[in-house]
Amino acid sequence: MSKKKEIDDRFKRFGTVSFIAISKTNDFITHLEDGQVTGTRCSDCGRAFFPPRADCCLCLTSHMDWFEVTGSGKLVTFSRLQYGPVGFEDDLPYSIALVDYGDFKVFGRLADDIADGDIEIGMALKTVANRLPNGQLNYVFQQL
Ligand SMILES: [Zn+2]
Repeated sequence: MSKKKEIDDRFKRFGTVSFIAISKTNDFITHLEDGQVTGTRCSDCGRAFFPPRADCCLCLTSHMDWFEVTGSGKLVTFSRLQYGPVGFEDDLPYSIALVDYGDFKVFGRLADDIADGDIEIGMALKTVANRLPNGQLNYVFQQL
């Protein structure tokens, strides 16, 4: 009799529509549930990765440590979406953005409560874990 293999599919709980079910960085979801947005840092070369990676593309090793995305980042660019992919129609319009934290950048969404007129390139933003109305998890950028 064979035992059914357990599948770690925590990424099913990420985003309005989850595109990834299985990943080597599933702890990211557990961290989100605990209110932390996390990336990984290579303990050999020190390079930071966001989204988190399990393997370093420079060292070709897997000596990664988790770090929390904290403090202030700067808005590099953003785009206000009037049309969205299937599954995101109810969220429209919303803004996607890139935030620079110095040694890594985070791609994500601007919080809905940031007024269009307040959005300015270079503005300070923080990255926070967020629970969607349907119970899924993501993270958003909020004004400091
Ligand atoms: Zn490395």
